[in-house]
Amino acid sequence: MSQTALSGAPASTTEVPAIRLRNLTKTFGETTAVHGVDLDIRQGEFFSMLGPSGSGKTTVLRLIAGFELPTSGTIELEGADVSGKAPFERDVNTVFQDYALFPHMSLVDNVAYGLRVRGVHKRERRQRAAEALARVQLGKFVGRRPSQLSGGQRQRVALARALVVEPKVLLLDEPLGALDLKLRQQMQIELKELQRSLGITFIFVTHDQEEALTMSDRIGVFNNGRLAQIGTAHEIYQRPTGAFVANFVGTSNIFDAAAVHRLYGRAGQFAIRPERLTLLWGGEGGRADGVTSVGGRITSLVYVGHATQVHVALDGGPAVVVLAGAEMLPDEALVGREVAVSWAERDAVWLPDAPTVPAA
Ligand code: ATP
Repeated sequence: MSQTALSGAPASTTEVPAIRLRNLTKTFGETTAVHGVDLDIRQGEFFSMLGPSGSGKTTVLRLIAGFELPTSGTIELEGADVSGKAPFERDVNTVFQDYALFPHMSLVDNVAYGLRVRGVHKRERRQRAAEALARVQLGKFVGRRPSQLSGGQRQRVALARALVVEPKVLLLDEPLGALDLKLRQQMQIELKELQRSLGITFIFVTHDQEEALTMSDRIGVFNNGRLAQIGTAHEIYQRPTGAFVANFVGTSNIFDAAAVHRLYGRAGQFAIRPERLTLLWGGEGGRADGVTSVGGRITSLVYVGHATQVHVALDGGPAVVVLAGAEMLPDEALVGREVAVSWAERDAVWLPDAPTVPAA
């Protein structure tokens, strides 16, 4: 495996992708769960599939694993077409949200199970299972049963079990969904470090945008069975290609065609992040030196710890959220107060009509 692939930086264009999906479609009766998805996932990449509930990301993962067969389109694993192959004929492994551990077996036996099925000798499989458990910091607990562990530790056993067979690609279906926030954040860092050190391709399904932004080399954002955008966390956040991505990934203020026409006399729509807006206690609307200001009225304030979200109904619309410093307390007396909101015009992200993207 090349250094570039390991670091997550763009691999050379001649490298065979770990996974290649072409025009992948899956229908269940009347429902089209996945609609003509084209995607290349690079070797050694941490790729997240992000999207709201029902957007098709789990179905894509199940298609890659072989638990579902495509209605049309193809799936290649390192250049070989596996579209019609059974799960055990594909060099991928899956970690599920509910861990699916055997309660009556010790950790080492749980982890060694996949090696046993593959006919690996007892001594070797126990040694490899112990090594895999040590890699996820459970070396001390090899003799315990799953019920004697915390949720985070059980999740690590599930990981060790999936990794011990050394798959080319590891599929992770919302594996941190059952954990509390602190543990989730800790596991995010551990997972990312593990992936980096192993160099295995990880495909991670989540509906949590913060999780996807934190961990991924690249993210594919799903909407209604289609890929709305593929890019790095920075690209997805800073340069969303449509209103759906701008809204789903973080909070965005969308200025629609009517607002744009009123402000700038041109066509189009743009998004701007709350942290890019400035609240002014006086002043009028207008434009000067690349800065636009619009008058409005505060409708509510929400304290979120590190900052205060100030909701402002701009004169003529839209309603926007401005992120003010935490020193601004959510004083109810401010509701109804006349203010102005300003932004540097270079911070506006103009949104093209781009419902789908070509393969990355
Ligand atoms: P979630 O985050 O809730 O898991 P998702 O983005 O992973 O959602 P999918 O589970 O892929 O979405 O589902 C996509 C669509 O396909 C949904 O409308 C779902 O109801 C439908 N679907 C998925 N599996 C089946 C099935 N076996 N039979 C019928 N419909 C299905």
